[in-house]
Amino acid sequence: MSKLVIGVTGGIGSGKTAVTDYFSSLGITVVDADQASRMVVEPGRPALVKIAERHGQDILTDEGTLDRRKLRDIIFDSDNERVWLEQLLHPLIRNQIVQQLEESESPYTIMVSPLLVETDQHVLTDRILVVDVPEDIQRERTMSRDGMSKEQTQAIMAKQASRNQRLEKANDVVDNSGSLEQLFQQLDQIHQTYLGLVKA
Ligand code: ATP
Repeated sequence: MSKLVIGVTGGIGSGKTAVTDYFSSLGITVVDADQASRMVVEPGRPALVKIAERHGQDILTDEGTLDRRKLRDIIFDSDNERVWLEQLLHPLIRNQIVQQLEESESPYTIMVSPLLVETDQHVLTDRILVVDVPEDIQRERTMSRDGMSKEQTQAIMAKQASRNQRLEKANDVVDNSGSLEQLFQQLDQIHQTYLGLVKA
């Protein structure tokens, strides 16, 4: 278990993956809350049985895995179903994350989550690093990566914490409005800062 856990967050398309891939390349363990959230609904896990009991077998693909798109549509339309699902999954996701944090042996550990600020996942972290971009760049990068319309992108952004809400919670901020090269230069410095904190 590392002495220091850094939570990385940012809105959709802000560059969290670009940031965490870079930390990985520096030898830092990255625990991914998105990945943990997929693991807890894998076939054979109790959560998947409960979801199928509530929404019927149609919520499963022919292979018996969760049809994530169908579930996403259901919770997008119903706050009630979203809350039910969150109450089921959040504790399980949290346990999964804690287990992976405990297994990490790098000098510090990165935990990346799009919902770090929105959920209590931030209590698992010692500091928060926000990947910050102006909303127009965020929208453009998301649209060109995912082929989504401006309206679809805007609807997702509206459901996430705002840029300012995130920045208020930040201990450190990395500006991803420039090139990847510029991003990595900032991360080199931040990496040194974190190594210094571990040694202190
Ligand atoms: P999500 O929350 O949707 O998973 P994310 O925060 O992980 O998104 P990325 O996938 O890292 O964001 O970045 C979004 C898109 O923008 C990707 O296509 C990525 O290649 C591109 N991108 C990220 N940073 C930059 C940059 N500095 N310059 C140009 N393109 C970038």
